[in-house]
Amino acid sequence: MKKAWFAVGMLLSVSAFSARGIHWEYSGEAGPEHWATLDPEYSACAGKNQSPINLTAFVESELAPLVFRYGEGSAEILNNGHTVQINALPGSSLSVDGIQFELKQFHFHAPSENLIDGKSFPLEAHLVHADQDGHLAVVAVLFTEGAANTVLEKAWAHLPETAGGPLTLPPGISPLDLLPSNRDYYRYNGSLTTPPCSEGVRWLVMKNPVPASKAQIDAFTHVMHHPNNRPVQAVNARSVLK
Ligand SMILES: [Zn+2]
Repeated sequence: MKKAWFAVGMLLSVSAFSARGIHWEYSGEAGPEHWATLDPEYSACAGKNQSPINLTAFVESELAPLVFRYGEGSAEILNNGHTVQINALPGSSLSVDGIQFELKQFHFHAPSENLIDGKSFPLEAHLVHADQDGHLAVVAVLFTEGAANTVLEKAWAHLPETAGGPLTLPPGISPLDLLPSNRDYYRYNGSLTTPPCSEGVRWLVMKNPVPASKAQIDAFTHVMHHPNNRPVQAVNARSVLK
């Protein structure tokens, strides 16, 4: 009887483990410098094309304008313990390289993960898109402290204080309102900035930051309890296009 109970307990913990992935953190023994060795599935975290980076030594390029077709509507918000994420409704897309990528979710890091010419920002949004084959394109938006941001105002009214499942947001949150009016961008090849750190991600970093109020930035850092930025990674052989 005791043995059977033990077996069930093991099964539960194994399934919970695989569903959530191996535990990782932003500091300590499960921190960024150890991610690659926490689990074989995280080995890409030691790759040569990792994100974030310090964007500098720009290469002049003719970058095609990004074509955003974002709708608005209700979505979900969740605090997963690593970030606060807003899941997008289907139907918002971005065209890059003649490929359509659908907006899946956007989430935040404080302070910023990517740096521009060595400069850090208090907050960074990542708008994560996937094409039909699962290739990813991330649009990064950097924030400076200033006027309140309308998307954050609507989303933070439902900001989950603790980690847990998604909450439904009322309609009217338009991710387009996160973008600067000038959509010029830097581009580089990178990775997810959290385990499993998968590479082959198109990074599109808006050149112009957008404002968010100090209260909005503080509200995010308060629910995170700790910085949630991976340190910058080596650029290696990559170019940053501008
Ligand atoms: Zn991110």
